[in-house]
Amino acid sequence: MNFISTRGEVEKLGFEDVVLAGLARDGGLYVPEAWPVLSNDTIASFADKSFAEIAVEVIHPFTGDEISRDDLFRMAKDAYATFDSPAVTPLHPLKPGLTVLELFHGPTLAFKDVAMQLLARLMDHVLAKRGRRATIVGATSGDTGGAAIEAFRTSQRVDVVILFPEGRVSDVQRRMMTTPAEKNVHALAIRGTFDDCQALVKAMFNDHAFRDRVELSGVNSINWARIVAQATYYFYAASRLSGGKDGALSFSVPTGNFGDIFAGYVAKCMGLPIDKLIIASNENDILPRAVATGIYAMRDVVPTSSPSMDIQVSSNFERYLFEASGRDAGLVRSLMASLAAKGSFELGSLAPILKSDFAAVSASEKDVADCIRDTEVRYGYLLDPHTACAVVAAERVAEGDTVVLATAHPAKFPDAIEAITRKRPPLPRGFEHLMTDKERFEILSNNLAAVEEFVLNHSRASAGVSP
Ligand SMILES: *Cc1c(COP(=O)(O)O)cnc(C)c1O
Repeated sequence: MNFISTRGEVEKLGFEDVVLAGLARDGGLYVPEAWPVLSNDTIASFADKSFAEIAVEVIHPFTGDEISRDDLFRMAKDAYATFDSPAVTPLHPLKPGLTVLELFHGPTLAFKDVAMQLLARLMDHVLAKRGRRATIVGATSGDTGGAAIEAFRTSQRVDVVILFPEGRVSDVQRRMMTTPAEKNVHALAIRGTFDDCQALVKAMFNDHAFRDRVELSGVNSINWARIVAQATYYFYAASRLSGGKDGALSFSVPTGNFGDIFAGYVAKCMGLPIDKLIIASNENDILPRAVATGIYAMRDVVPTSSPSMDIQVSSNFERYLFEASGRDAGLVRSLMASLAAKGSFELGSLAPILKSDFAAVSASEKDVADCIRDTEVRYGYLLDPHTACAVVAAERVAEGDTVVLATAHPAKFPDAIEAITRKRPPLPRGFEHLMTDKERFEILSNNLAAVEEFVLNHSRASAGVSP
């Protein structure tokens, strides 16, 4: 399988190159040249397969010959052995018609582990094959950073630098990034917002001399391997549940960068019957506004109890625009130019397509608090604030059987949960040391040159250290 850029101005690449490249050199995102469609029989066979086995069936059509099914299965098995549940992503029936898909059983208690644990193994596999090193630079609104540092801390070939907005991530999130002692992982606090961090990462990718010197790679959800690894759990959930209308389920997805919900769209393109895909936002509601008005317009980010969704520019939305427009790279370029120039664009003829592909709901802070309290009292189940946005959205939109993606464990956001329920949720077993281990991180201003210098000084690829 080859991959093309949403902006249409670079050569196509194979799967391994796309895993290492992250962002395309024309500023676009890689998408598969064509959608592989799984047969109904294949999808039906998932009922008897493990999570790792389903992952192979979903991901292998994209790797082609570059990675064998055996290698992929070995990596998937290793990756998902780090989870504390044999199901990997267990389902919890909340009430009739509503099931929670718990994606937080990995080592950093958030759904990003599902893709990141596999991505780290894929990258090491590809780099070993090529005798190369890489430097990963990523921006995090909280959870990606910990997941990346945790997944790569044992990597022999990859150095990781994670930028996070100073003071805007929870203590648990920060400590997951700052307590690992390995020399190849680095947390960097930036004086700014998540969008500033993401802009710095994009600027480093667009600085081609720098990019080549440090063998820059990306693990933000712009990395195709993450998206496709996340498509696995949509198939997994469907394999364990029988849906309503024509066997189709709806999915309600806490959304920030549009990665996780786009993975659901990918599953649909690959043949999974899906009724509604529901975009669940917090008060940072750029996507619900876009669905309602046909205008995608940035506003200032407001801090909420679900910080991993405190985002105004949803990077992966570009992938959707490419698909919705019938793969019109010229149109994507002009929409993105408008966004860069004036902070907005009009969807025009794409607006009704967006509306038919997605429902979208913005949950207010009050909605979230009421939902968390109500769900605990009525069903004895504690939601984290991100997942609560998706429960609010599911209840507002869906008529049929709906799966709510639970993207984080409530103990990852203890201050927010305590403020709402007056009880502090304890960390699960195995995390006792997190709050007392020694932290290590640096603070830099929102300045590209300073951040590039830090990365250069901590990259073994740029120092020419042989693998
Ligand atoms: C990252 C994250 C999200 C948003 O996911 P996207 O793929 O960026 O849309 C939602 N919830 C939690 C807990 C997260 O860590």
